Amino acid sequence: MTDVTRLVIFGRQGAGKGTQCDRIVGHYGVIHLSTGDMFRAAVAAGTDMGKQVEPIMQSGGLVPDEMTIGIVRDRLAQSDVESKGFVLDGFPRTPGQAEALVEMLGDDKLTAVINLDVPLDEVTARMKGRGREDDTNESIAKRLALYEEETVPTIDWFAERGMVVNVDGLGTEDEVAERIFSAIERSG
Ligand code: ADP
Repeated sequence: MTDVTRLVIFGRQGAGKGTQCDRIVGHYGVIHLSTGDMFRAAVAAGTDMGKQVEPIMQSGGLVPDEMTIGIVRDRLAQSDVESKGFVLDGFPRTPGQAEALVEMLGDDKLTAVINLDVPLDEVTARMKGRGREDDTNESIAKRLALYEEETVPTIDWFAERGMVVNVDGLGTEDEVAERIFSAIERSG
């Protein structure tokens, strides 16, 4: 189906991705797919995967690609996601994950790849007030460093294929949401 909206959103920790994903869900009726939420649910449920990923998440490291690609593949194959579309949040964040995503989508093209851009000094200040369990100073620093090392090359991977739209993430929630919606309309 060509009319299904399929989105990927990039943005540094603290860029406001979670908030904007809620807005996108409200506007387009797509399903929010956050690998961070999926892993936190696995940890909370005490599954085998949860036990494996818990120490990795606590330290701010990246879960191995194989495991991450596996949970996304399973979720994308479910009928609600196939019929309503999705906004992927926190995946892909390595070039290997990006390749796997494009391969698993096959003929189902992405509607847009959004890069919600907020500078490093601004997100560092915002993160300090957030209070999530893995938001220790070391973990934040490690996650932001990994973003530059792994995720920026992933954004570049999509940019080389002409698929990225940059959206300025500074401003009110409404302003940023409007910019995202118009970027999606332009891409779709
Ligand atoms: P953040 O963007 O602050 O890192 P997330 O909720 O997206 O928060 O992810 C929380 C943690 O889950 C990450 O620090 C990482 O350990 C793991 N994780 C989430 N998505 C991925 C992914 N695509 N690849 C590897 N690890 C991931």
